[in-house]
Amino acid sequence: MRLSNYFLPVSKEAPADAAIVSHQMMLRTGMIRQNGAGIYSWLPLGYRVLKRIEQIVREEMNRSGAIEMLMPTLQQADLWRESGRYEAYGDEMLRIKDRHDREMLYGPTNEELITDVFRAYVKSYKQLPLNLYHQQWKFRDERRPRFGVMRGREFLMKDAYSFDLTEEDARKAYRRMFCAYLNAFSRMGLTAIPMRADTGPIGGDLSHEFIILADTGESAVFCDRELLDLPAPGLDLDFSSDLTAIVEQRTKFYAATEEMHDAASFEALPEARRVSARGIEVGHIFYFGTKYSLPMNAVVQGPDGQMVPVQMGSYGIGVSRLVGGIIEASHDEHGIVWPDAVAPFPVGIINMRAGDTACDAACAALYDQFAKAGVAAMYDDTDEQAGGKFARMDLIGLPWQIVIGPKGLEKSTVELKRRKTGEKIEMSAEDALRKVLG
Ligand code: ATP
Ligand code: MG
Repeated sequence: MRLSNYFLPVSKEAPADAAIVSHQMMLRTGMIRQNGAGIYSWLPLGYRVLKRIEQIVREEMNRSGAIEMLMPTLQQADLWRESGRYEAYGDEMLRIKDRHDREMLYGPTNEELITDVFRAYVKSYKQLPLNLYHQQWKFRDERRPRFGVMRGREFLMKDAYSFDLTEEDARKAYRRMFCAYLNAFSRMGLTAIPMRADTGPIGGDLSHEFIILADTGESAVFCDRELLDLPAPGLDLDFSSDLTAIVEQRTKFYAATEEMHDAASFEALPEARRVSARGIEVGHIFYFGTKYSLPMNAVVQGPDGQMVPVQMGSYGIGVSRLVGGIIEASHDEHGIVWPDAVAPFPVGIINMRAGDTACDAACAALYDQFAKAGVAAMYDDTDEQAGGKFARMDLIGLPWQIVIGPKGLEKSTVELKRRKTGEKIEMSAEDALRKVLG
């Protein structure tokens, strides 16, 4: 992408109405544009990051055996009357009427809709286990939309729904999601800690929130320091194996959000291991048995011929919230520091003297080589001052920068900079290319 042809509305000023660093940086880098309270347009740079996160979530869901589909944003109120949640959900639900005066709603979540899909087609335990998911926009009329995309009203969520014959199988499905979540967050460069959680309006008796630690997090959290260093299960995990040990390796340590906090057990830990911090909820998983299948009559025939309500769980990831969450976890005084896996572009090329024949040619050649290797580089070919270009490139936080100027070209070198460490090395353009391509 040549910057002169791109749409990157960067602003120098920190926006006055943004209270936390991720919100400020997303506005300053032109990633998002607020269109209403808690409602945003995703501008090109932000959209690329959103898509990369969505893709990681997709790959890890698929690896665990879940199957992707897409459900609508608008739902019929009648379906929610069957579960009893139409009245129960409260003011967070955006209720809408169509031209025929039919009551509808913009989905805040999809348990009812997926249960309706399930009951239409699945009649036998032989079709189980099943885990269906989608990544779709949700609407919740939050009382206090704030912190940009972290607490929006319209936001992108990955939500998966598991269906099993027995409670034991449903708990296995829960463990598969538990492990898939650890892998997905780890790929994004995040340490997400599963914490015992309240089940809230989704209901059920087993639930974990996945929390990343950040000073600007909305909830107070408490956990054992040992949890911070446990590696994710890894992408070679066999999801058909027994995952109990992996889950227990984490759940045996103390970790709880404010609502579930038990001060006595926490204080029983040695002082050095007590982490009392702020956290951002990036995922939430629930096992809730027959809470929806029973009232909605989603039944399957078991091996004994009996019809039984199916056992269910639901599993959410805040895909759009993660964009802000990752910035909270990874930035410095100069701007965003994207982890490689979610960066909007892996590398930025800076032309120190646009208009100079040798500089233009060297930049264009490198840019083309990246394109040939299948890598989209961001090429700053504008004729602005070098200082402004450096600051902008640091602000948007691409993992690598390659600076090409007349002095270096005399020696046939360019400068390669790693955004995260600030380390700069002079080398040939070919070596810089190889290094970035890894
Ligand atoms: P919270 O406690 O933050 O209000 P929740 O418990 O209501 O979230 P869930 O129903 O568990 O949310 O939704 C699954 C995931 O969707 C959450 O873990 C979070 O990452 C994300 N999410 C929920 N509400 C919002 C929102 N208003 N804006 C952005 N992401 C959200
Ligand atoms: Mg939650």
